[in-house]
Amino acid sequence: MRVTVVGAGPGGCWVARRLVEAGHEVSLVVPPERRLERVDVGPLEVLVGEGPGGGAVYSMGNLEFHGPGRLEGAFRSVTEDISTPVSETPDWVLSGLDLEVEGAAAEVAERRGLRVSRTFKAVDFGSCDGCGRCLECPRGAKWDPWVEVPERVDVVEGRAVSVDPDGVVVLEDGDVVGGDRLVLAAGAFGSHDLLRGAGLVGDSGFFVDPYVHVVSDARWEPSIQMGWKLVGDGFNVYPHATSGARGRYCLMVKVADGVSGSVASRRKPLEGETVRRIAEGVAVAVEVLREAGLGVEGVVGPAAAHPGGSLASFVEGFRVPSANVWVSDSSVLDRAPGAPPIGWILAVAEEVSRAVGR
Ligand SMILES: Cc1cc2nc3c(=O)[nH]c(=O)nc-3n(C[C@H](O)[C@H](O)[C@H](O)COP(=O)(O)OP(=O)(O)OC[C@H]3O[C@@H](n4cnc5c(N)ncnc54)[C@H](O)[C@@H]3O)c2cc1C
Repeated sequence: MRVTVVGAGPGGCWVARRLVEAGHEVSLVVPPERRLERVDVGPLEVLVGEGPGGGAVYSMGNLEFHGPGRLEGAFRSVTEDISTPVSETPDWVLSGLDLEVEGAAAEVAERRGLRVSRTFKAVDFGSCDGCGRCLECPRGAKWDPWVEVPERVDVVEGRAVSVDPDGVVVLEDGDVVGGDRLVLAAGAFGSHDLLRGAGLVGDSGFFVDPYVHVVSDARWEPSIQMGWKLVGDGFNVYPHATSGARGRYCLMVKVADGVSGSVASRRKPLEGETVRRIAEGVAVAVEVLREAGLGVEGVVGPAAAHPGGSLASFVEGFRVPSANVWVSDSSVLDRAPGAPPIGWILAVAEEVSRAVGR
């Protein structure tokens, strides 16, 4: 069978790999240039990665499963085969300060009935030296979904501008790519835009995971980003540096929001419940920093990452009804994870590859 995949984030790369392993011919359409974009979605800006590897190229290496139980088996299958093994963040990539604040977080968590644990990452800890420049990982220690794409895949450089219900794709330069089946993996905005353009779906809301940084008065010391987490009720707190905090040690508060707004106009409200969760997370982060004996200088943000959910109400079993089209990316997640989504997206890709390859 010949399958066309549009988009090469984690969802597209994994589905391409699995389909080739199952003996199918795969054409993968992706813009050639990697870049990190800020998309203005109203009160917030959301970060999106373009090009081979998609947003995961800029990830912090976190690879955890925050999806529904029915996809846990699929996630396990992914972790058995992924090119960079997933493991818990070890002590040696955390700075002394980060370890101290983790201890303080554990005290606060115990008082409040919350939980602190190390994060799981697809990082080669034999190569990682904890420099903290995870965004562009100078050691090549962080997993990059593009390494999963087999040589045999026909990589078509370009951007899809339209698709039809039979799965025929037209590119910006007018070229046409067709196959027996089409998998869209162009991300929360890209896949929705293509299906909406084809008249296969209407406008929809979407989610983002909003975050702020609580800035301490201590200097940031080299340390892996997001090496541990404090899990609250509707929010997570992680150590994470931001360029907006002039080299200070920070705690990031990340929350889940609801599916709302409009993909077509790239607008979504900052909901009252989201603001409440951010405020609660900030109060906990401040308590942690003070417990560690640090002062608090202020808060940077909010911004957002992890857009998704834009096609969840349209697909059935990750397939667009009455079309020769499946979707394998964050757009089919049915709620905001408020936490790293790549594990969930890879589990979706595993399921999509089984369904498409049948
Ligand atoms: C700075 C940063 C740090 C992050 N850290 C983490 C982390 O540590 N752990 C985690 O789990 N998540 C993290 N995320 C989120 C994660 O990267 C995304 O949720 C994930 O990449 C989404 O995957 P996706 O497959 O849905 O699509 P995307 O990664 O968005 O990829 C979409 C792909 O489709 C392509 N595309 C779009 N439109 C078209 C078109 N018309 N034609 C052809 N191709 C098209 C794009 O170029 C891209 O290749 C982070 C994100 C950012 C920005």
